[in-house]
Order: sequence, then structure tokens, then C-alpha cells
Amino acid sequence: LVSRENHPDRSTVTVRGVPIGPDTVTLIAGPCAVETPEQTLEAALMAKAAGATLLRGGAFKPRTSPYAFQGLGEKGLRILADVREQTGLPIVTEVVDAHDVALVASYADMLQVGTRNAQNFALLQAVGAAGKPVMLKRGMTATIEEWLMAAEYVAQRGNLDIVLCERGIRTYEPATRNTLDISAVPVVQRLSHLPVIVDPSHSGGRRDLVLPLTRAAVAVGADGVIIDVHPHPEQALCDGPQALVDGDLERLAAIMRDFPPLV
Ligand code: PEP
Repeated sequence: LVSRENHPDRSTVTVRGVPIGPDTVTLIAGPCAVETPEQTLEAALMAKAAGATLLRGGAFKPRTSPYAFQGLGEKGLRILADVREQTGLPIVTEVVDAHDVALVASYADMLQVGTRNAQNFALLQAVGAAGKPVMLKRGMTATIEEWLMAAEYVAQRGNLDIVLCERGIRTYEPATRNTLDISAVPVVQRLSHLPVIVDPSHSGGRRDLVLPLTRAAVAVGADGVIIDVHPHPEQALCDGPQALVDGDLERLAAIMRDFPPLV
């Protein structure tokens, strides 16, 4: 279903009127985690100033440590919905458990499946049946074939509004949090008709790498990027070291302007 064999034209997925696909390079930005109404609104305004047309933000956070901040849950979803109201930015947010899909889908404009759940087939089937566009991150140890098969689980439930997100894979190299597999972008675009975006924040894991990796992503033809921003990253409850700050936004906007879609 997701292969280009029977569907030669590349697809555009529309999230509450915002297109992600071959004719555009979409910027999705926002906080890694929803922490407070003020922090979420500030981050959303930063995202908008940089040219973002979709707001990211996690209310359910899949953390490596059970002692780390796990997200605000439904309270976080309500904050996102309020910030959508105030900024007009549609919401992309993660769902980590099949039992929460209906709840998250009742607030979100796009459901995100994260790297840790990229082969949670029950969750993939549930998001496939939820009637909302889906952003499917690549599993951190997934081959491209496994990633595309994960997308098939969503598609099989009747939902072809899927955006694939390369977010780095685990390799032997510890200098970056994950190794951004930049070649996956054109490889997957040739194999699948689905849009492919890149997450330069979670792949590098470091603020100083986000803009260079964004340039790489848009230069190679990614259909969009998803980027963490935070008004006060030193106080962030999740992934502060990779969040862009106010001073980075003009350069981010310039990168997005300088690299039109590679059709
Ligand atoms: C995220 O985008 O908030 C996230 C946790 O990303 P990943 O699943 O790629 O680690």
C-alpha cells in the first residue's frame, strides 16, 4: 500500500489544511514536551516566527528512564488545544499506548508514533483506524524495509495519510545521540509514495547540530523537518540541550527559505 510500485506519484498528506509533500518543505516546530501553558504558548510563538505551520509537543513522553518526566497526559493535550486556538497552528503529538489513541486523536490533528513504538503493531493498527494523519518515526534500529512495513500496518487499516520521519538510527558512534541516516530520505522517496521528513533535533541530540542537519535534510529533498524549540531550554523537563532558542530562529527561517522543494 505504501510502495511506489502501484502508486507512482508521490503523495501529499494534509494536516488540517497544511500540506506535507513534494511541493513544499513543511516546518513543524514546538517544545519537546508540553510543560506549562506559558511555556507551550511561548514555544509555539517561536515556532510560528520561524515559519512553522504545524506545532509539535509531547503530552505523553516515552522516556528511557521511568524516573524522568513522563508528560502531562490529558492536561498537556488540553494545553495544546488552547495553544492551537491562540496561534492557529494545528497540533502534532505523540501517542504511546494503543488504549490512549481515541483520547489523543480527540485533541490532535496528527498522531505521532515515536521511535520506541515503531514496531508496536497493536499501536500502529490503532492509529491506522483513528481517522487522523499519522507521523511514523523510524525505529532506532529499524531497517528501511522494517520501517516501511510498519507503515503498512497503519495503511492496512485504511489510512494512507502517513508521513515518515527519519530521526536517526543507533550506530557504534557515540559523538551524536543517534546517527542521522540522511540517505534514507531519497532512498525511501524512491521506494514509497509517502512524504518523508527529518527530525534534526532527536537525531543529533545537540543544539549546535540542529541547523547543519536541517540544511542537510532540506538539501537532500526532505518534505519537511520537525524541530524542538524552547523559550528556556536550561529549565526544560525534557531534551533541553537540543532545543533551539530565540537567537536561532532567523537562521532556521533563512534555511527554510533558501531550500525550495527538490521536485
Ligand atoms: C519526540 O519527537 O518527542 C520523540 C520522543 O522522538 P523520537 O521518538 O524520535 O525519540
